Amino acid sequence: MGESNLERSYYEQKLEEGLRFQDHITDKLYQLGIVLVTYVSKARSLKAENKAGIEIKRDGLFRSSGNLYIETAEKSHASNLEYVASGIYRDDGSWLYLIGDEETFWIFPKTLLQRVEQTQKYTSVMTATSRGFLLPVDVADRLCARKVSEDENPPRRYCRKCDSWGLEVVCSNCGFDSVREVYT
Ligand SMILES: [Zn+2]
Repeated sequence: MGESNLERSYYEQKLEEGLRFQDHITDKLYQLGIVLVTYVSKARSLKAENKAGIEIKRDGLFRSSGNLYIETAEKSHASNLEYVASGIYRDDGSWLYLIGDEETFWIFPKTLLQRVEQTQKYTSVMTATSRGFLLPVDVADRLCARKVSEDENPPRRYCRKCDSWGLEVVCSNCGFDSVREVYT
C-alpha cells in the first residue's frame, strides 16, 4: 500500500518547511559574505546539499530546552531495521554543520562535533527514527566556529552550578560564567 494522502501532505509540508529554512539561511549567509550555491536534485543531495559543504538543520527546540539536538544516525522509516549514519556523520562531503532557527543559529566544523560526540559527555537521545545527543547552548556558544543571532528573545541557559535557568551567560543566581569556565 502507498502512503496515505495525509502522510504525503505531511511529508510535503515538512519538505517545504526545510526548503524555506534553507532559503532563509542562504539570505543570512549572503549578508555575511558566504555565498551558498544549493543543489536540489536527489542525485546531487546524496553529495553535500550545497557547494559550500554546509549541512543545514532547523532546530528551534533549544529555546525551551536549552539544548541543540545533534543527529548522528537516522532511519527513513521507523520499521527499517538499521540506523544509517546521518547528521554529523553523514558522509556526503559536507564539512560544516549549521543548526538553529531563523533568528539564531550556530555553525560548527563537523569534525569538532564528532569529537564532542565521542567524549560521550552529553545526554544521548534515541527516537523511532533518529539518534543523537543534546549539546547545551552555552557549550555550543563556546565551541562554534560562528554564531549568528539577531534575537529579541535569547534562548534560556541552564546553570550547571546552581541548577537554575537564566538568560545571561553569567548566571544571575550564583555568578557562574558558563562560557569562561572549562566544562568538565
Ligand atoms: Zn548559577
